[in-house]
Amino acid sequence: MVEYGERRALQREVFLGFWKVHILHHAAERPVVGQWMLRELRRHGYEVSPGTIYPLLARMERRGWLRCQADPRGGPRARKRYRLTEKGQQVLTALREQVEELYREVVLGEGDDAQTDP
Ligand SMILES: [Zn+2]
Repeated sequence: MVEYGERRALQREVFLGFWKVHILHHAAERPVVGQWMLRELRRHGYEVSPGTIYPLLARMERRGWLRCQADPRGGPRARKRYRLTEKGQQVLTALREQVEELYREVVLGEGDDAQTDP
C-alpha cells in the first residue's frame, strides 16, 4: 500500500472528491449522519477521521447540496442528519455521468479514439 505521506497527498488531491460522491449517493437513499458515513467510508477502505468528515458535511451543506436537520429530541448536542437537496440531486446526476465516463476510459480502456495520431 502507499506510504503515509503519499496517502495524505492522495487524500487531499483525489479522495476528498470521491468521498463527496459517496456522501451524495448515500444521502440520496436516506438521510445520513456523520458517524454512519465515517463507518461506511472506512468499510470502503478509506482512512477518514471525524475531523475530516464533519467539516466536509458542513461544507456540502453550505453549497446547498445537503440540508441538515438536528434531532429535535436531542438537545444542543443532537446528532445532525443530512438529506439530499434538489440541487444536490442535480450535482449527483452530473457526477454519475462523469464517473461513468471516467470509468470507461480509465478502467475499461474505452474511448481512446480521441488520441488520433497526427
Ligand atoms: Zn458507500
